[in-house]
Amino acid sequence: MDRIGIMGGTFNPVHMGHLMLAEAAREALSLDEVWFVPTGYSYMKGVGKSSENMPLPEERLEMTGLAVQDNTCFRCVDIEVRRGGATYTYETLEELRENYPEKKFFFLIGADCLYTIENWREPGRIFDACELVAAVRQGASADAMQEKIAQLKARFGARITLLPFRNLEISSTEIRACVREGRSIRYMTPRSVISYIEEKGFYRE
Ligand code: NAP
Repeated sequence: MDRIGIMGGTFNPVHMGHLMLAEAAREALSLDEVWFVPTGYSYMKGVGKSSENMPLPEERLEMTGLAVQDNTCFRCVDIEVRRGGATYTYETLEELRENYPEKKFFFLIGADCLYTIENWREPGRIFDACELVAAVRQGASADAMQEKIAQLKARFGARITLLPFRNLEISSTEIRACVREGRSIRYMTPRSVISYIEEKGFYRE
């Protein structure tokens, strides 16, 4: 059975933190592939409506595709952008399970999401559809996290694996701020993504 990591994200823009997390999970969990799933309209972040200098969902999809194109184990899939409307993770995972019943899915997230996932739409259906892989940054409180995991297991029968992950202080927010202020984003994201951002004029004042 193929083991597939699902790296969901707004990816506004995708950066080295996302790519390194996906690669770390691929290696640690012996995943066959990692599929990057850019969100469509992200109702919690308000991303997706066209606003000046902000990429549309189709453009975030294209940027993410450029970032993963040189890794044969990575793919970028359009399932959420194509679906349109608000992005709900449970719908994505259930659609993937239906379309690929022979594959086992691992949803990759930053461990902070463990504290918010109960507020996402249909959390029980998310846990039914996949095993969760939570990347833990160094310095995070292991005790608090274990308590949260125990709660999620008791309430939803959640399957959760912790993935120790380095602290890589790169964020999409910082990249957007750098572009806005005319500062360099070299080495924060692949060259192909930088060229695309420049060509389209994203994130400028
Ligand atoms: P994002 O900001 O683009 O980030 C994607 C993932 O990468 C997150 O899990 C994030 O964890 C991690 N990440 C970012 N920078 C990192 C770094 N430097 N080092 C390590 N990890 C890093 O995406 P997002 O907007 O948080 O969305 C994540 C997923 O959650 C998406 O698939 C979205 O659809 C889903 N979601 C679903 C619902 C719902 O179904 N109702 C609600 C909210 C989110 P951190 O957050 O810890 O940085």
